[in-house]
Amino acid sequence: MSQMAASALKSIYKEDAILRINNLQVFFYTDIGISRALNGVTFDVPTGKVLGVVGESGCGKSVTALACMRLLARSAKILKGDITLFRRSKKENGNGNGAIVDEVKLTDLDPMGDEIRKIRGEELAMIFQEPMTSLNPSYTVGDQIAEAIILHQEVDAAEAKQRTIKILDQVGMANAAGIFARYPHELSGGMRQRAMIAMGLSCNPSVLFADEPTTALDVTTEAQILDLMRDLQAQLGMSIVFITHNLGVVAQMCDYVAVMYLGRIVEQTSVETLFYSPKHPYTSALLNSIPHAGSRERKRLQPIRGVVPDPYSSIKGCPFHPRCNSYMPGKCDQAVPAITQIEEGHNVRCFLYSDEVEE
Ligand code: SF4
Repeated sequence: MSQMAASALKSIYKEDAILRINNLQVFFYTDIGISRALNGVTFDVPTGKVLGVVGESGCGKSVTALACMRLLARSAKILKGDITLFRRSKKENGNGNGAIVDEVKLTDLDPMGDEIRKIRGEELAMIFQEPMTSLNPSYTVGDQIAEAIILHQEVDAAEAKQRTIKILDQVGMANAAGIFARYPHELSGGMRQRAMIAMGLSCNPSVLFADEPTTALDVTTEAQILDLMRDLQAQLGMSIVFITHNLGVVAQMCDYVAVMYLGRIVEQTSVETLFYSPKHPYTSALLNSIPHAGSRERKRLQPIRGVVPDPYSSIKGCPFHPRCNSYMPGKCDQAVPAITQIEEGHNVRCFLYSDEVEE
């Protein structure tokens, strides 16, 4: 299958894809009803770049990452769509950014099976939001990282320990050998998050999902962790999917951005275009709701009207129409707009730019 064949839209990237999420629909079946978490999410993860996935809480960012890792809760069901990992050959610098050598349809794999267990950690890794709930309190930090290395890299315990100490050192932990023997509760929040990053990087994955990795940290530690991740990404050449609701973090970290609203991508472009020429009313509203450092203009911040609708309800028409300042009655409340390319490298889902409707 060719890379372009799976996607009707022209790619917004200069780079080839390492991961393709195509028309993914995920619902949660719970006691109180059906939560429509993802309603046809389509985007590529560019090889060797940082893609930011932004949007308010509840728009489906984390569910998308968990679906790729095949770590969705039992109540979730993938109803439609697929996720493909493009395995690439290693270049001389060790980065897996060469030609495609294999394709794996992650959605076809048994989420409890051996194949996905091998892919998790080795090819796809994830850093979770709150390390205290993700690290096992009864094992030392070093043992938890070394376990992943032993599992995926077929080395003995002594070699795994050496590699763990090296990676703890790489993520900026002073006295890495001492940290190896510490339990998670003995570390500060920033150190625990560094340990999570070390665990994520321990097998040099092709794609790292970072799910709000700095939300629980103070601003100084956040800046250090973001610098560290950017440096390591450049050094190791991996792709990062950076999930956040913080547009300041996006500006600092990302090359490209996908904006999500209620389980769909509504705008996707480069980070520069998103900040200087946002097109979707939701993106503009997000940008107007945050302060701009250095701005000479004195104007009030504009909060976005209303809240993200309950995913248990279903909205006719464009899901953003109850909150949209550009809402066109009789049009926006009748059909869901399709995502279309409005200029080179810029895709938007809105009737202001195209009359095309989603199938
Ligand atoms: Fe607003 Fe209509 Fe565009 Fe939806 S389709 S974002 S309601 S203008």
